[in-house]
Amino acid sequence: MNSTFDTDVLVVGAGPSGLTLAASLVARGIATTIVDRQAAGANTSRAGAVNARTLEVLKGLDVSRRLVKEGVQAPRFTVRDRARTLIPIDFSGLPTEYPYTLMVPQSTTERLLLDRLVELGGSVVRPKTLTSIAQDADGVSASFDDGDVIRARYVVGADGIHSTVREQAGIGFQGGAYGESFVLADVKLAGETPIDEVVLFWATAGLTVVAPLPDNSFRIVAPVVDAPEVPSAAFVQTILDGRGFGAGRMVVTDVIWGSRFRIHHRVADTYRTGRLLLTGDAAHVHSPAGGQGMNLGIQDAVALSDALAAVLAGAPDSLLDDYSAARRPIAVQVIALTDRLTRLATMPRALRPLRNIVISIVGRVPAANRALARRLSGLVYR
Ligand SMILES: Cc1cc2nc3c(=O)[nH]c(=O)nc-3n(C[C@H](O)[C@H](O)[C@H](O)COP(=O)(O)OP(=O)(O)OC[C@H]3O[C@@H](n4cnc5c(N)ncnc54)[C@H](O)[C@@H]3O)c2cc1C
Repeated sequence: MNSTFDTDVLVVGAGPSGLTLAASLVARGIATTIVDRQAAGANTSRAGAVNARTLEVLKGLDVSRRLVKEGVQAPRFTVRDRARTLIPIDFSGLPTEYPYTLMVPQSTTERLLLDRLVELGGSVVRPKTLTSIAQDADGVSASFDDGDVIRARYVVGADGIHSTVREQAGIGFQGGAYGESFVLADVKLAGETPIDEVVLFWATAGLTVVAPLPDNSFRIVAPVVDAPEVPSAAFVQTILDGRGFGAGRMVVTDVIWGSRFRIHHRVADTYRTGRLLLTGDAAHVHSPAGGQGMNLGIQDAVALSDALAAVLAGAPDSLLDDYSAARRPIAVQVIALTDRLTRLATMPRALRPLRNIVISIVGRVPAANRALARRLSGLVYR
């Protein structure tokens, strides 16, 4: 580390993107400081799906085998209308070491990333809130709520949807929000519950995801007009009866965790301005349809680690522009895909039976089916 700098890279935010970036930089011997405004890591479930491409990029950090040990492998993804399969997607034939969706709560993913960071000699400084940033030709001075100022060569905003780094950098975040809110619940179920399959029900009543999680629990996600702050078992049961295999065929016996959220679809105008960079939700947010959000952030972080390591070792600084130029279009594609899925899922009720007929025809075209599998698994972005 140069004596005029406190650290080479300051990472703001210790969610999955920031933890991946920090662990990856520390593994390469780069002086890295990671801070988070929360006193402790979030312990809630949130993003439950880790895709094949994420497992591929985390293998080099020695995190994938730990994730695989704790998660549930779902080699199949089906779109259904009641019990009828409209689109059967089989990941098991994909050209990857990880031919499945790994279902694991985000809190577990974050814990394993943090464990690896600590194992490599790093740690998260918390609670510490970034308040402002000033950059000059040589570096960045980052000011914090406790009066501290950290001098770094580069600062990365991995600080989520309301990113202070993005705001301080003056980078626009174009897009909008969907009208409906989403209900999210991790539940115990009895009855017909496939344990190796992520099911997307496209019922006339509305979309619902049912996916297995560790400890014989299941993740339910559904758009509703006005989601309750914390969904009750009865609320989730009504959704499953109206949108799942049929009334009484999946029975909610317990709600372990529940939440609601509104969805934005936005992308930052650029992921780089000077010595300030963005990664993860700070750079892009979109609908959870297709479970891409956290995956994209982790994959950004690994790409950014490669670029920063090369630049700090003397490669041209334009590699950081290449990072933005390579990763931003992927977010735009993911936003377009998840936007299409969300709009199809929430289209007017009267049109939904026709929609399902069309989808079942398209979904059985082998080339279309393979293309969707490659997109959902993230392998298309290799
Ligand atoms: C209820 C809920 C359900 C979700 N469900 C899904 C899902 O099913 N599938 C899916 O793919 N995604 C889902 N998501 C989104 C997913 O959680 C995010 O995509 C993912 O967490 C993004 O990771 P990140 O590291 O980029 O940002 P975050 O996880 O948001 O982490 C940002 C971190 O930055 C810290 N921070 C913020 N500002 C500052 C500051 N000024 N100074 C210091 N630290 C700061 C925060 O404390 C936080 O720890 C869900 C999100 C929520 C809230």
